[in-house]
Amino acid sequence: MFEEILIKNIKVPESHRIVSYLRNGGYTALPEALKHSGETIIQMVKDSGLRGRGGAGFPTGLKWSFIPKDPTLQKYLCCNADEGEPGTFKDREIIEKDPHLLLEGMTIASYAIGASKAYIYIRGEFEFGAGRLEGAIQEAYDKGFLGKKILGSGFDLDIYVHRGYGAYICGEETALLESIEGYRGQPRIKPPFPALKGLYKKPTVINNVETLSCVPAIISKGPGWFSKIGPEKSPGPKLFCISGHVNRPGVYELPMGTPLRDIIYDHAGGIRGGRKVKAVIPGGVSAPMLTVKDIDIAMDFDSLAAKGSMLGSGAVVVMDDTTCIVKIAYIVNKFFSHESCGKCTPCREGTTWLTKVLKRLEYGEGREGDLELLDSLCGNIFGRTFCPLGDGAVMALRGAMKNFRDEFEYHAKNKTCMV
Ligand code: SF4
Repeated sequence: MFEEILIKNIKVPESHRIVSYLRNGGYTALPEALKHSGETIIQMVKDSGLRGRGGAGFPTGLKWSFIPKDPTLQKYLCCNADEGEPGTFKDREIIEKDPHLLLEGMTIASYAIGASKAYIYIRGEFEFGAGRLEGAIQEAYDKGFLGKKILGSGFDLDIYVHRGYGAYICGEETALLESIEGYRGQPRIKPPFPALKGLYKKPTVINNVETLSCVPAIISKGPGWFSKIGPEKSPGPKLFCISGHVNRPGVYELPMGTPLRDIIYDHAGGIRGGRKVKAVIPGGVSAPMLTVKDIDIAMDFDSLAAKGSMLGSGAVVVMDDTTCIVKIAYIVNKFFSHESCGKCTPCREGTTWLTKVLKRLEYGEGREGDLELLDSLCGNIFGRTFCPLGDGAVMALRGAMKNFRDEFEYHAKNKTCMV
């Protein structure tokens, strides 16, 4: 029987208050963690098999282990609460309804890596969530879970909320650091990686909200408990946010590796009006779309990668058979070109050009050779950009063109839509 740990608490009244969190067993993992060394906590997280829930799926304990052990160095933890990927609204559930789960996870993570300062970088539009976090942080200070000598230990931690200004690129970890430092939110060249030179050029770990929120359960229930949920190489619970043409869109906590079919039909109530699935974006709009033939795929990092797509943030966007894929490709590319930070030419110019061509295809003004032009533009963007945004735009378009090329050809030839 699968046990929810991430959205369990949000179902009780006043779930964002510390009294509710304590009543439901909150802040019991922190004193347990403080009994161990930071290295032991890192090993526990490694043993759990937890992989980052922000998109890349990098092993969390391994990331923490890259932080230098020198105790004289200032270190930072940054929580990425930017959640800008279209279709993604899972972190917001935790931020608004169970902020203490995140704060407890951040406190344990900071202790493990030796950080005495931590930041939550939250997207500007999440004004309500930022207020909830500020309130929860104050409650945690008042109860001695933050501040000096936490719970009588020698560990000090301050957590700050830093609001962004609505730029998608600030969800990229180095652009996020630039933004906290007060600079324009544009990615930094890597290496050096943030583990060595991150915030204010000091060793820094950047983790997603959901990732950090898994940590208290790993400490209190043990890494073995966590690693037995779902597939061996991507274990644990996962928040899937489902939107699009389903009857019950929302956030569902399920074991990693749950089949896509079960998510759509058992949890999200199937397709509206009894229609058929045409396409599914499985992990945010950068993830290449799947077709109805792929609907039995296990939703985990490795299964989706093997299929040429990705789990990304776990944002599942379902499209029924009334959907025009050319229109979707146009909308998605328009988003990427709008959000390109402009730092590198292939992304800045290439995504703009892609959008122009897709727009004319969508509006019945396509020209002969437009599909070949799209292919060529994709080839000149992919792998040639400074950060993954350019690649994401190309992967999304290539996924659509690979599976639904006939629709693009129809638009180019007939100047109209085939659905
Ligand atoms: Fe900016 Fe795009 Fe280049 Fe990333 S790929 S640095 S978003 S221009």
